[in-house]
Amino acid sequence: MNKSSKKYNSVLNEKRIKLHVFEPSNRKIWTVVGSDREYWLDPDLDFCSCPGYYFTKKNNEKNCYHLDSLKTINHATDIESVTFSDTEYRDFLSGLLSDLKK
Ligand SMILES: [Zn+2]
Repeated sequence: MNKSSKKYNSVLNEKRIKLHVFEPSNRKIWTVVGSDREYWLDPDLDFCSCPGYYFTKKNNEKNCYHLDSLKTINHATDIESVTFSDTEYRDFLSGLLSDLKK
């Protein structure tokens, strides 16, 4: 087992990826719990807010392991999904963004 597949497994086994679903619009926000904060993942945009993402993009490498592991997981069993109301969407997003700026 190489180093990066160990990383995938730790992300998956600890269920660190969370899916937040906003009803009734069915908007989705993915997050992953990192070592000291929660990162924002967007698989459609191939975006992750972790420092590793900027580093790998800067070097023209592939995605960070959060995005890679998000693409390999079995959504039905490996993801913790939480449902919110659309009215909470704005607050959730601003909370997430303010967390990123710390
Ligand atoms: Zn990442």
